Amino acid sequence: MARSEELGKRRAAAVSRGVSSLLPSYVDHAGGATLTDVEGREWIDFGSGIAVTSVGNAAPRVVEAVKAQVERFTHTCFMISPYESYVAVCEQLNELTPGEHDKRSALFNSGAEAVENAVKIARHHTGRPAVVVFDHAYHGRTNLTMALTAKNMPYKHRFGPFAGEIYRVPMSYPLRDGGLPGDVAAARAIDLIEKQVGASNVAAVLIEPIQGEGGFVVPAPGFLPALREWATQAGAVLIADEIQTGFCRTGSWFASSHESVVPDLVTTAKGLAGGLPLAGVTGRAEIMDAVHPGGLGGTYGGNPVACAAALAAIETMRAEDLNAAARHIESVMLPRLHALASRHAVVADVRGRGAMLAMELTHGGTTESAARTGPPPNPEVAAAVARACHEAGLLVLTCGTYGNVLRFLPPLVITDAQLNAGLDILDAAFGEVAGN
Ligand SMILES: *Cc1c(COP(=O)(O)O)cnc(C)c1O
Repeated sequence: MARSEELGKRRAAAVSRGVSSLLPSYVDHAGGATLTDVEGREWIDFGSGIAVTSVGNAAPRVVEAVKAQVERFTHTCFMISPYESYVAVCEQLNELTPGEHDKRSALFNSGAEAVENAVKIARHHTGRPAVVVFDHAYHGRTNLTMALTAKNMPYKHRFGPFAGEIYRVPMSYPLRDGGLPGDVAAARAIDLIEKQVGASNVAAVLIEPIQGEGGFVVPAPGFLPALREWATQAGAVLIADEIQTGFCRTGSWFASSHESVVPDLVTTAKGLAGGLPLAGVTGRAEIMDAVHPGGLGGTYGGNPVACAAALAAIETMRAEDLNAAARHIESVMLPRLHALASRHAVVADVRGRGAMLAMELTHGGTTESAARTGPPPNPEVAAAVARACHEAGLLVLTCGTYGNVLRFLPPLVITDAQLNAGLDILDAAFGEVAGN
């Protein structure tokens, strides 16, 4: 029996069915932009473990920093006996997140935990209960973050009851809202907030500047700035969930910057620590410091090994200019994705920024009758193309409320040769599945 098959059997007997995997193969090692399984099969990685290994898998600086740290100490708990690297990661977060104002940070273990804490902090600071979120949003799988997340299957189904005081309003989604200008889409959302929630009840407006799991939805220009302006007027905290978009992924340290939006709080995780679990909440000093001492924390939050990895990852991003690398990836990928779209009518949209790009697949192009909600989603072709890619040695992920979006998140250190080889596989997969 093949080794992966054998591991699959052990897994079925030991691991909950609720935790599923995209590939049936088991990883033996990985480096840069490739994964190799226990049988020696290799994949070009267009997923980065969901936008985590932006500096590449087993990135040399990260590996060295982690080795050095585990030999010094593995854990003390920052709430008991603090250490320098936690402070240094907070300094980096304060410097790199948008805005020149005085900032503070706190560290946690996962993205969901960061989002929960951002909401705690915003409620504490404002003394208000309501949190406004958007259609197609994804913020995690804990009880509060399930409530903040839009999609039922697989994230929420039968896992309720959910936390209260969460209010969902329409997102700007150009393919599916008839191409509403950003300010008009924002006015639609703001009208709902004012009429159904009440401006003075809103603690926070929480938004992904480019939505991740919800389909790599890029809001129309003007949408984010209008929400920024409204939140300021309403005295609400604008939280940018940059867990997927942050740390060079979109060709900038943070995606909010593409529209010069300065959030009050920013949540980070994924790309922050080169593969180790670490998350942060960063924001205005007066908001972050409103919380009483002891009000924030956790046993492992800001673990020293994860902090060492984060400092090494950030050093790599600076030294190798991974913002420029992400923009270069966009310049190589976008023309080829547009060429694919021109040959395959199932591709209704090509979108994204930097190394966070996607294609939305539908049944035919936009028709007049479908203009209001956009063309009918085609998750079957998305799944079939992804499967054909996996079989041919390219790891791609799908996403989207309708499961019909192919998303591309290569490590930012991917070479042009690997990038083009991956795109050749994608091209062939489309030919195989959708015809030429
Ligand atoms: C992945 C993700 C989260 C949740 O992070 P976890 O580390 O999986 O808890 C939250 N928000 C966004 C935008 C994400 O992409």
